[in-house]
Amino acid sequence: MANKKIEKLIIIGSGPAGLTAAIYAARGNLNPLVIAGREAGGQLMWTTDVDDYPGFENGVLGPDLMAKMRKQAERFDTRFINEDVISVDLKKKPFVVQSESRQLTTESLIIATGASAMWLGLESEQRLRGRGVSACAVCDGFFFKDKKVIVVGGGDTAMREVNYLSRMCKQVSVVHRRDKLRAQPALQELVKSKKNVDFILNSQLEEVLGQEKVTGVKIKNTQTGKISQLEVDGVFIAIGHKPNTGFLKGELELDEKGYVLVEDEVYTKIPGVYVAGDLADHRYRQAVTAAGAGCKAALNVEEYLQKLELPSEGNGILQ
Ligand SMILES: Cc1cc2nc3c(=O)[nH]c(=O)nc-3n(C[C@H](O)[C@H](O)[C@H](O)COP(=O)(O)OP(=O)(O)OC[C@H]3O[C@@H](n4cnc5c(N)ncnc54)[C@H](O)[C@@H]3O)c2cc1C
Repeated sequence: MANKKIEKLIIIGSGPAGLTAAIYAARGNLNPLVIAGREAGGQLMWTTDVDDYPGFENGVLGPDLMAKMRKQAERFDTRFINEDVISVDLKKKPFVVQSESRQLTTESLIIATGASAMWLGLESEQRLRGRGVSACAVCDGFFFKDKKVIVVGGGDTAMREVNYLSRMCKQVSVVHRRDKLRAQPALQELVKSKKNVDFILNSQLEEVLGQEKVTGVKIKNTQTGKISQLEVDGVFIAIGHKPNTGFLKGELELDEKGYVLVEDEVYTKIPGVYVAGDLADHRYRQAVTAAGAGCKAALNVEEYLQKLELPSEGNGILQ
């Protein structure tokens, strides 16, 4: 279904980046349309306590935080469609956005489709997500202060998670399926120097144990097939993230992992098209940094649209 109306601004994604962009754009009178995605609310819908988002002295539940952000955006007349975007055409002006049920056109675009943590795919891992199984040490490490955890993975990301967790946990065991870690040597040396870090190599996680919360893990030796059991309080899966950018291939420049290549956090090479949040940020990956990028993207859109309305020589207000 094609819609003849040309939107001023479409925002794709309704995590912290997309919703913050919506709040700023709506208050700037841009009447944004958010295509929220099938997993509206984004990654924080998968977690319980968020203790590091400013403004909540006693913490806030992830889904509650996202509901508050959405209500705040709705208060200023943001419109929402709960669908995924299938494709975009950024070579045309106005830009074309094809969602599951309709084709839309827009003068400007903020893409905030985030990233998804990669999981092993074990039933027990999924069942205990948010109850001791996590994919983010910075987000959840504090809940495991003075406790025992394992980190699954052997790359740079995994070693950064190990380093972070070693500062608060009693013991951090690295479970890696090969006989050597893949991480860069400096990171390996750093974690190997920690007294409370040990390595269980040639091994893979078979099962996470526990009913209401994690109580232990079953680990299989990939060479002997032997299964052993370990008592732990937390399991951190650190086997990488996948940015949700498949639909942008051929339209925006992506790096080899699929992250959008940006300048100054939010600028793409196409004027009028901005990105915000985890789809362009493999380093910080926090709700507050994503929200900050959403704010920047919206302010840039305001400026971009204002420039479009000015006579060609401009009026000197904008750079
Ligand atoms: C379990 C867990 C716990 C976490 N805990 C914390 C924490 O305590 N503190 C913290 O700061 N950070 C935490 N994080 C990280 C934080 O959630 C992310 O950094 C943040 O959500 C990124 O925001 P975003 O808006 O960029 O993307 P996301 O939150 O990933 O949102 C992306 C949005 O885009 C939508 N989308 C995707 N593809 C499409 C498409 N094709 N069309 C339309 N929409 C699409 C999705 O449905 C979603 O609405 C946690 C992450 C996880 C997974």
